[in-house]
Amino acid sequence: MLTIESLAEKVSAYLEPDQTNQVKRAYYYAQQAHDGQVRRSGEPYVTHPLAVANILADMHLDHQSLMAAMLHDVIEDTGIEKAALEEQFGEAVAYLVDGVSKLTQIEFSSRAEKQAENFQKMALAMAKDIRVILVKLADRLHNMRTLGVLHAEKRRRIAKETLEIYAPISNRLGMNNIRIEFEDLGFDALYPMRSRRIRAAVKKSRGNRTELVEKIKLAISYALKEEHIDGKVFGREKHLYSIYQKMQVKRKSFANIMDVYAFRIILKSVDDCYRVLGVVHNLYKPVAGQFKDYIAVPKANGYQSLHTILFGMHGVPIEVQIRTEEMDEMADKGIAAHWLYKSKNENEPTGSQERARQWVKDLLELQQSAGNSIEFIENVKIDLFPDEIYVFTPKGNILELPSGATPVDFAYAVHTDVGNTCVACRINRRLRPLSETLQSGNTVSIITAPGAQPNPAWLNFVISGKARSAIRHYLKNQRHSESIALGKRLLNKALMSINSKYEDITEQQKITFVKDNNESSFDHVLEDIGQGNRLAYTVAKHLLPELSVPQKEEQPNNQAPLIIENADGLMISFAKCCYPLPGDPIACHVSTGRGIVVHRDNCKNMAEFQGDHDKCLPVNWSQEVTGEFLVELHIELENRRGVVAMLATKITDQHSNIEKISLEERDAKISIAHVLIHVTSRIHLANILRRLKTIKAVTKITRSKN
Ligand code: MN
Repeated sequence: MLTIESLAEKVSAYLEPDQTNQVKRAYYYAQQAHDGQVRRSGEPYVTHPLAVANILADMHLDHQSLMAAMLHDVIEDTGIEKAALEEQFGEAVAYLVDGVSKLTQIEFSSRAEKQAENFQKMALAMAKDIRVILVKLADRLHNMRTLGVLHAEKRRRIAKETLEIYAPISNRLGMNNIRIEFEDLGFDALYPMRSRRIRAAVKKSRGNRTELVEKIKLAISYALKEEHIDGKVFGREKHLYSIYQKMQVKRKSFANIMDVYAFRIILKSVDDCYRVLGVVHNLYKPVAGQFKDYIAVPKANGYQSLHTILFGMHGVPIEVQIRTEEMDEMADKGIAAHWLYKSKNENEPTGSQERARQWVKDLLELQQSAGNSIEFIENVKIDLFPDEIYVFTPKGNILELPSGATPVDFAYAVHTDVGNTCVACRINRRLRPLSETLQSGNTVSIITAPGAQPNPAWLNFVISGKARSAIRHYLKNQRHSESIALGKRLLNKALMSINSKYEDITEQQKITFVKDNNESSFDHVLEDIGQGNRLAYTVAKHLLPELSVPQKEEQPNNQAPLIIENADGLMISFAKCCYPLPGDPIACHVSTGRGIVVHRDNCKNMAEFQGDHDKCLPVNWSQEVTGEFLVELHIELENRRGVVAMLATKITDQHSNIEKISLEERDAKISIAHVLIHVTSRIHLANILRRLKTIKAVTKITRSKN
C-alpha cells in the first residue's frame, strides 16, 4: 500500500532532503484539511492526493509539483483559501493549486467536436505554468484508475471528457504512456461491451500469434548480431482503443488489424537506426510507400522514429518502429521526460517554465531542420505560450480572442450588431466594466440596448482588429450623417435670416453651387458646414445672391434656436471649461472640424464669440433632453481619514459615475476635492449636493463655473 513514507523514500532518490520534507509537510496539511472526508471507495480522502503525487514522482517531477498534487483538492473541497496556502507553502505552490482548481471547476459540456479542441486550448491557456497541466493529468489519471466505484452516469461523463480533452492534451505534450492509459480506461468506461469484446478477441488471437512473433523477433535479432549492431527487439501489441479506432475510422475488420505483427527496435544511435532500417529491408521485402522518417521530420509533439512495413513469411505484414533509447523515452513521457533529462544534465535546476520553454525550443529546432515548423507552432507553441484567450459564451460555446481582449472585443466577435449596441456586460455572472481584461475560462454575457451606439472611448481599450474597425466604421458613418444633418439645420437658420428656407432651395441652385465651388456633392457642402469648415451664412448668400441681405446688426434675433436633444451627438460637444447642464442658460459657437461647442452663456470663453453672428448661434435644451453630462464640483473639506471614500460612496449611491477625483491640500486642516461626475440633469445634481452636505467634514461645495 502506498504511504507517505514509501513516497518520501522514492522521491528522496532525486530530491534534496529539505524538498522531500516539504512534500511530507504538504501531505500532512492535506491530511488534516481533508480530515473526515472519504472517497466513494470508503478510503480516507487523502489517499487520492497521495496517489496523484506518486504518479508525478514516477515522472521525477520537482517538489513544488508534488506539493501541489498533495494540496490540489484543498481549495475546492475544504474551503481553505489560496492566500492561506501561499502563506504556508509559498507563492508557486499556491499558484499551482489554484490553477488546478480552476481547471477542475470548468464543466466541459461537449456540443460539437470542434468545441473539444477549443477546450484543450483553453485548458492549456489557463495554465500559465505547464506544471498545472501535469498535476491535472495525474489527478485525472488516478480518477480514471478508480472510476469503477462511481455512478454509471458520472463515470460516463468523466470518461468522455478524458477521451475528448485529456487524452489529446497528453498527446500534444508527447506523453504517450499517459495517453494510452487514458484511452484504454476511457474506452472501457464509455463502451464497456465493445471494450470487453475486443479484449477477448485480442487474447484469443495472441495464443495463435505467439509462435510467429517469436520467430520474427529471433530473425531480426539474428540479423542485428550479424551486422554487429547492439539493440533490443520487442514484440508490440496495439492498445484496445487504437484497435477500436482503426475499426471505426479505417473501417477495417478486427481480423484485418490483428493480422499485422508489430515490433519495436531500440538502438544506441541515430546512425544505427538507419543501418537497421537497411538490415530489416534486406531481411523482408518492404511494402512500397509505407516507409516514414519521423527522425528527420518529427511529429508535432516531438515524436521521433522510423516506421516501415514489411512482408514477412507467408506474406504477413510486419510493422517496425526503429528509434534510439532517448527517442523512446521522449515518445513515452514527452515533456515530462525532458524534465528528468535536463535535471540530470544541468548542475542548476532551472524553473519549470524555463524547462517547458526549453522543451518547446528543442522541438522547434527539430522541426525547423525538418522544415515543417508551421504545423508544429500551431500545435505546441501556441498552446504553451498562448497569444489567445478562450472564453465561454452564455450557451457554453468557446470563443477564441487575442490576449488582452475586453468584453467589447467579445461582443464584436459574436456579431457586429451585438458590438454596436452593447451597453454593459457580465463576467462570470457579475456586472463588470466593458473595459475589463478577460481571462481564459471566463463566461461572458453582453447586455445590449436597442438604439445604443458604440462609444468612441472604446477605441482606447479594444484589442481585436474586428472591434476596432467596426467601431471606426460606425463612428465615421455616424459622424458623416450627423454632420450633414447639423449642416442642414445651420444652413436653414442662415437662410431664414435672409427670409428664405432650406426647402426653397432648388436642385438647380444646389448643382450650380457645387460646380462654382468645385465640390463633389451638396451633401459634402452640408457636411463641411456641420463640421464648422464652412460658414452657413456665406453658403446662404452664395445660394441666393439676388435676395437683399440684411446687415449683420440688423439680423433678426428671433431666429429659432438650435435644440439640443441628447448628450451623445458626435457633432455637438459640451465645453470642458464650464460643463453646461440641461436647465442652464447656454450659448454655442461653431468650431472648425468639431461642429458645435455648447457653453454656459456666462462662460468667459464664450465672450470672444459674442457678437460674431457667423460663429455664434442661439441654442436651447430640448424639453426631453437625455443622456449623461459631466459636471465639476469643488468640495472643501476637513482633512479626515476616509472622507474621500465617503464622498465617493455618497455620489455613487445617487447613481452617478465619478470620472475623476483629485485632492488639493490647502492647509493642515482643509483640502479641496475636485470631482468630475456624470449627471442627467440639474435636479440629479441637486440631489447629489444635498447628500454630500450631510457629510460632517464637508464645509463648502461649489459647482465650477470656469
Ligand atoms: Mn483530485
